[in-house]
Amino acid sequence: MSSREMSGRQLSSPAPGWFGDFGGQFVPETLIPALDELTAAWAEARDDPSFLEALEASLAHYVGRPTPLYRAPRLGADLGLDLWLKREDLNHTGAHKINNTLGQSLLAKRMNKARIIAETGAGQHGVATATACAALDFECAVYMGEEDMRRQALNVERMEMLAAEVIPVSSGSRTLKDATNEAIRDWVTNVDTTHYIIGSVVGPAPYPELVRDFQRVIGDETVRQLADHAVEPDAVFACVGGGSNAIGIFAPFIERNREVAAEARVALVGVEAAGHGVETGRHSASLTAGEPGVLHGNYSYLLQDEDGQVIPAHSVSAGLDYPGVGPEHSWLKETGQVRYESVTDEEALAAFADLCRLEGLIPALESAHALAGLRREAARWAGSRVVICLSGRGDKDVEEVARILAAGGEPGLEPGAGGR
Ligand SMILES: *Cc1c(COP(=O)(O)O)cnc(C)c1O
Repeated sequence: MSSREMSGRQLSSPAPGWFGDFGGQFVPETLIPALDELTAAWAEARDDPSFLEALEASLAHYVGRPTPLYRAPRLGADLGLDLWLKREDLNHTGAHKINNTLGQSLLAKRMNKARIIAETGAGQHGVATATACAALDFECAVYMGEEDMRRQALNVERMEMLAAEVIPVSSGSRTLKDATNEAIRDWVTNVDTTHYIIGSVVGPAPYPELVRDFQRVIGDETVRQLADHAVEPDAVFACVGGGSNAIGIFAPFIERNREVAAEARVALVGVEAAGHGVETGRHSASLTAGEPGVLHGNYSYLLQDEDGQVIPAHSVSAGLDYPGVGPEHSWLKETGQVRYESVTDEEALAAFADLCRLEGLIPALESAHALAGLRREAARWAGSRVVICLSGRGDKDVEEVARILAAGGEPGLEPGAGGR
């Protein structure tokens, strides 16, 4: 059945976890009790001071939070504005993903689960999950397509060192989509003992909300840190793959914007990956160029053809290389609360080089998209104060960027491992 037919039939369903027309729970019937259990557990935990204290302690002493909000003078001067970087690259494991995997692992403890599973494409979410499992004593299995395992061998080594079992998936295109199917199959079978950690604000309800709540620490810290300097931002930029770092930093600003007059609102800009260019069809810009449909258990914008078949995504950055996007972003787009733009591989690589050269910071290629989004509109923000979510560090991308530069600066045509 095509995703459009499915969504047409089920859009009016009164399931929890809708953002306007987007979200829902498009999953096998057998998973509904597990999603209900998770929804109830989080509703309790989020109001339990002892849970919140344990989470805060882990984020402080294990992850290294709060991360600094760094005023970047040289790149700021180059762009002609007052630039601040929220340094998620300084988290343990080098990106924001650990905020979510640690939070969900603590919740799984509370739910008396002994085992955690995840799926991963690029390996980054798998490593963040394996890390939290080692720290909190969970048995851990990570599903990964054989093709992705080949392309991301270093992350496979990392996960195995962290005592996770990496389970190769040999069905279909042997990438993220197939790994997701296997992870869901595992969860259906082992749901009593097992929690499934989804790595972005995607999947069936309650995941989009749950993951947002765990990533919201990025935005809450940013608000406090700006207040410490007694300044207000004019705009906040973040890259959007599934959309978790973006929702995380946007969340408190979205709430504030609803309470103030239009001219007092902070502009929120999500930057997607346009890959080789939106017009080439080789991109990951689901919000910019996709249409609503059902993917991975929720109804949201995604890349699909006339028949509702999902089109493979492309981006130089593995973490943005995903054909869908979280349902809350679809709703924020349709209601105009966040503006979404997209930048090409080439623009992202130029922004990557700028940050290295001018600030001594090697960003993740994902984060370089947010920088490139700002660079393209620098004239519009001249003299303004802009915050960028620097979602991760770029050690993982150094080899790939060097390879591209050696080949004359053109991102190659071979698809990278896709998505998280
Ligand atoms: C995975 C990843 C992303 C994309 O995921 P979101 O859910 O959109 O945040 C962005 N930046 C980095 C560094 C990542 O590892």
